[in-house]
Amino acid sequence: MKPKVPTLDSVTTINEDGSRYFLHPADVRGFWTRWRRVVGYGLLILFFALPHVRVGGEPAIFLDLGGRKFHFFGMTLMFQDLWLLFFLITGVGFGLFFVTAIVGRVWCGWTCPQTVFLDHVVRRIERLLEGDAPSRRRLDEMPWTVGKIVRRGVKHVLFFVFAWVVAHTFVSYFVSAPVLWGMMWRSPAENWGLFLFVVGMSVALYVDFAWFREQFCIVLCPYGRFQSALVDENTIVVGYDERRGEPRGKPGSVTGDCIDCRRCVQVCPTGIDIRHGLQMECIGCEACIDACDEVMERLGRPKGLIRHDSLSRFAGREWKFFRPRVYLYLFFAVVGMVAFVVAIGNVKPVTLFVTRMQGAPYIRDGGMIRNQFLVRLGNKKGEMEKYWVRVKGEVEGLVASGVTSGGIELRRGEEIVEPLVLIVPDEAFRGNFAVEVEVVDGDGKVVQKREVPFLGPYRSGGKK
Ligand code: SF4
Ligand code: SF4
Repeated sequence: MKPKVPTLDSVTTINEDGSRYFLHPADVRGFWTRWRRVVGYGLLILFFALPHVRVGGEPAIFLDLGGRKFHFFGMTLMFQDLWLLFFLITGVGFGLFFVTAIVGRVWCGWTCPQTVFLDHVVRRIERLLEGDAPSRRRLDEMPWTVGKIVRRGVKHVLFFVFAWVVAHTFVSYFVSAPVLWGMMWRSPAENWGLFLFVVGMSVALYVDFAWFREQFCIVLCPYGRFQSALVDENTIVVGYDERRGEPRGKPGSVTGDCIDCRRCVQVCPTGIDIRHGLQMECIGCEACIDACDEVMERLGRPKGLIRHDSLSRFAGREWKFFRPRVYLYLFFAVVGMVAFVVAIGNVKPVTLFVTRMQGAPYIRDGGMIRNQFLVRLGNKKGEMEKYWVRVKGEVEGLVASGVTSGGIELRRGEEIVEPLVLIVPDEAFRGNFAVEVEVVDGDGKVVQKREVPFLGPYRSGGKK
């Protein structure tokens, strides 16, 4: 089958009858391909290594949903600190908007997991087993011989193994690698939910790697759709210099610099022709830049017929770096990140919650008034710590027992729930009053405190 010619009227990868046209992007070499590969392998190493790297005794990134705590490079956040993520997501989100407004879809071309997995692993495996693009196309059209079955079989097994490893690595960010390893050797019946999730994710990734591929970027990814709203004519994008390239034609004839060799189309992983202008399917992978530069080099013409530039400059107009949207995105990105850093700097090393026990608000018994609470205490510091809980209230004869009766040793990320019982002699009680519950560390420093009301019967002249 001859390679399809991309048009602006329909997606290359869908045939007229609605069936899938399977792309086989040609090999490409060059500056951008090399550096994308370096970044891609770096990201793959990070993704697979982080659950195994320990910082302060915990995995570098561990989103412990079961334990309701999150570890980030030595810092522990409890579930209650999740509000901090609002600032982080705002900062990162607007940071991504800012970057996209300046340099287009670098996220898609360089760092998106879909691109990284496909370009630097999946297509590499395919290239190794089935050869270059024309060989792969020939193999597609060949009848099913033993050789084809073996080659295709090995390829699909490797795709599934890779999908399985990615799914397990992803899950290890949530249950930790040692726990996941332990689960893998036990019956799935002990962890049905997680088992089915991993199986489902492995199958979904396998289908993506083996078949869906660029369709994810073209028809599924919402970020691809955002692009038209974030990119304007001053954004630096991958584009074709029409004024230099047209009219296209064979070398030797009096034409522009484009010789219509279609190398830029053959290498495109989404099957578009960048000479038709910026299109939503372009993921900014720069393969067409390297392909065209190679052609220009061979012809002895200047590189850069396809290059990074703004649509305004491609059209011969002035390029404006600073536009209102750039300031706006940058402003919100900086506000989000600064707010996150300030908030994280103020996170207390200890969590403390004091809640009244269910039932009567107070109990009168043997000339005493009793209030009962539950104290939830958690250690977010990087090491084993001992804490003491103290109470202060301006009423004579206030006695505390329960959690206050001794020091409490807590590992990092550990939380305990203990009762706190406060007793006041009936005759000393003049009305409701505030009790301060404090947590003191080994140096005698108050690291966290909460105020709770001590309740009792109404006394005339006292507080209700
Ligand atoms: S690779 Fe360059 S010269 Fe060849 S068709 Fe594309 S733009 Fe024209
Ligand atoms: S047009 Fe160029 S940059 Fe865009 S996806 Fe295709 S090869 Fe990559």
